[in-house]
Amino acid sequence: MNYPLNYADDGPPALFPSRSNDPAHKRPTHKSGNQKETCSKETRSVAIHETTLRDGEQAAGVAFGIEEKVAIAQALDQAGVDELEVGIPAMGQEEAEAIRQMTRLSLQAKLTGWNRAVISDVQASINCGLSRVHISIPVSDVQINAKFHGHWRAMLEQLRDTINFAKDHDLWVSVGGEDSSRADASFLLDAAQYAQEWGTSRFRFCDTVGILDPLTTYEQVSYLVTHLDIPVEMHTHNDLGMATANAIAGIRAGATSVNTTVNGLGERAGNAAIEEVVMALKRIYSISTNVDTHQLLDLSHLVAGLSNAPVPPWKAVVGKNAFAHEAGIHAHGILKDPHTYEAFDPREVGWQHQLVLGKHSGQHLLRSVLERYDISLNPAETQAVLAAVRSWATQVKRSLTDDEVLHLVQIQQAA
Ligand SMILES: [Zn+2]
Repeated sequence: MNYPLNYADDGPPALFPSRSNDPAHKRPTHKSGNQKETCSKETRSVAIHETTLRDGEQAAGVAFGIEEKVAIAQALDQAGVDELEVGIPAMGQEEAEAIRQMTRLSLQAKLTGWNRAVISDVQASINCGLSRVHISIPVSDVQINAKFHGHWRAMLEQLRDTINFAKDHDLWVSVGGEDSSRADASFLLDAAQYAQEWGTSRFRFCDTVGILDPLTTYEQVSYLVTHLDIPVEMHTHNDLGMATANAIAGIRAGATSVNTTVNGLGERAGNAAIEEVVMALKRIYSISTNVDTHQLLDLSHLVAGLSNAPVPPWKAVVGKNAFAHEAGIHAHGILKDPHTYEAFDPREVGWQHQLVLGKHSGQHLLRSVLERYDISLNPAETQAVLAAVRSWATQVKRSLTDDEVLHLVQIQQAA
């Protein structure tokens, strides 16, 4: 596949002339002048297109059963996500049955099936009762070489035929550029503009291997948003730990919807986490979503359990330690005013802050824990119990439970 090379050297190919370089197909430049409008985010809203059931499940070792997929779909719908990517209908009978069951639930969320640019894939989506399809095409050299032996014209023809088939069946169509972040920018825009011309309603920008940073994401997505009439959706991966940051950067650049997964579940290092994206949009930019943030912790627990993928304690928003305070100075601050060491009220996401005793705790925290049990110690006892707490916590390498602390108090008082 030599599209970008040929394209640069020889001009637009005959079969698929460039759209991005053709003034007749170019967006009026005033749209880039509208950056202010697309970037004054404080009042706009962003649609959450949840893909725990598709890209999340593609994580190594994760396999949801039919009932589990349905339970996750119901929980996500209950939480208010706008759209659910429910799976890959062409994958097989069990996947198709799970999707069929989801389409019968009359959920508020719009359901979308994931498809290759293959007519039989779209037919499988139709057979499941779906009225919305996402069609994925490779757009980088490496992907087109691997999947179409470099024949990018054949790939575009196949996309056109598949979109036509979907439109003939009255389906809503979104097209995704797999590996958009490593694609030639002109080719990516051409592919997106062809998709738009053939009746696609949305284009998905995919940082498939998670190699972008927020600044580059902003530039690449701005270019698409500026030159497309249809809305752009973000799809980011966490290989360098920037899935959420890149998703947000794309939204700042004008993308209007974003793919997320619960707990960031997904291939390799995972996807942008719904709890992070929703809370970052809300807290940093005052951009609203329809997600009820109070349900984020329950969602996290549900998916962690069903995917058998425990959440690391330090995981943003939903991790066990996200609002836990052990260190003396921090706990003292939290006791005086929670704003001192918490980015936002944990109750907003269904959590509560926890003050735990461990190696780094001080007397204020110990006193406050013991107050709950109507226990007060004199200064000498306090120091002795604190020393015992630190020693035990170091041995067991964790914070202590209240019962363990009370046990140490008993020992001290009996001494
Ligand atoms: Zn992905």
